[in-house]
Amino acid sequence: MATRLFAPRDPRLDPAALPPRRLVLGRALGSQGREVDQVLAVRFPAPRSYTTQEVVELQSHGGPAVLRALLAAALEAGCRLARPGEFTLRAYLGGRLDLSQAEAVAQLIAAQSEGEAGLALAGLAGGLSQVLGPVRRALTLAAATVEAAIDFPEETNELAGPALAEELRAQALEPLRRVVARRQSGRVWREGALVVLCGRPNVGKSSLFNALLGQNRAIVTPTAGTTRDAIEESALLGGVVCRLTDTAGLGLEPGELEALGRAAARERLGRADLALVVLDQGAPLTGEDRHVLDITRDISRVLTLNKSDLMPAWQAEELAGEGAPALRVSAKHSSGLEELAEAVGAALTGGQPEPAPGEAVASQRQAEALVACAAALERAIAGLEAPEVAAELVSLDLAGALARLGEVDGVDAPEAVIEAVFDQFCVGK
Ligand code: GDP
Ligand code: ZN
Repeated sequence: MATRLFAPRDPRLDPAALPPRRLVLGRALGSQGREVDQVLAVRFPAPRSYTTQEVVELQSHGGPAVLRALLAAALEAGCRLARPGEFTLRAYLGGRLDLSQAEAVAQLIAAQSEGEAGLALAGLAGGLSQVLGPVRRALTLAAATVEAAIDFPEETNELAGPALAEELRAQALEPLRRVVARRQSGRVWREGALVVLCGRPNVGKSSLFNALLGQNRAIVTPTAGTTRDAIEESALLGGVVCRLTDTAGLGLEPGELEALGRAAARERLGRADLALVVLDQGAPLTGEDRHVLDITRDISRVLTLNKSDLMPAWQAEELAGEGAPALRVSAKHSSGLEELAEAVGAALTGGQPEPAPGEAVASQRQAEALVACAAALERAIAGLEAPEVAAELVSLDLAGALARLGEVDGVDAPEAVIEAVFDQFCVGK
């Protein structure tokens, strides 16, 4: 096919056997051998190509007319269009990339910010694979040991359950837990967080919004493809880039709070990484305040007791049952804002440090599979530690853990998982 599409300028070169990995100048041939463009061709012989298969790439000057003509010629020559993610799928099937790396390619293509791209690059470099490789080896070894004890009880010594459990805990469970714990903070550090200010009218949300921005406004470029709310601004809070949103933009401002059902309000808050609940300490707590506390209960949050310059009408202890940090501030006098910013940053990152360059962070999908893997592994470990639990049950849990791990590293991954990963690709990459 390539010989029908490309004629090298150097007549001594055999178009059917171009030198490997060298740029070769020549003519791109369209329909009936008509010259379409002057191009460079490069041949990647198998297996040293992206897909591990034989690849020829043509580099054209581009432009829609030229590309259309080239594409038409390629189709005439017997090529077909790549399916979404097909090149990367072939790379995965050829063993060039594992599933987490293939997923990172899709993330890299979709990345809108430098932070997201950095995250994807770490995944592509195999950051996650480096952590999960030893986990898979430990799980496989343990599964084999337990199998052997079941199949050949007379030939193997008594299964050393507790020792095996300890090994699994150190080699598999702890690393899995670290990756999962890192997801939220890693994402927040690299991609920033959405912080939603909420509270009944007049507690001082807009004042606090402006006061926080006045001190911490972050200089950021608008993200391509997102429409930015007029009242969404970025601020650096505790080192984290936060997109601050006043609930005015969420339709929770005067009157609307009651009008909206609780479910709707929850839904609007659902996108938030953190709710900054604003309360007025200068006036008694109202039913509306309680309602706001109620609808934010399932979200990570920081309680702000505003108007600390006024006589407190109630005490912070009243919020003891809320299970969230409470800070006294005065938006009007810009006091307590630094402590508030620190508390927001700490709540968002869980106090964990910024990931090192190259440190991989799991995607949501990967984290869910790894949580399930850890749960199965915990059951297996508990089984190994309890002499009355049959080895068959431990074996089942280990197999379950391996299956969930496979959804991330792609070893023996079910078709549906692989499809879900490659469905994320929208171009023939
Ligand atoms: P929102 O409706 O929650 O956005 O509240 P606003 O920011 O519009 O503030 C409502 C009123 O509270 C305004 O009159 C503000 O000047 C006042 N206010 C806001 N913050 C403070 C504060 O820290 N101390 C005092 N004394 N008044 C404040
Ligand atoms: Zn307001």
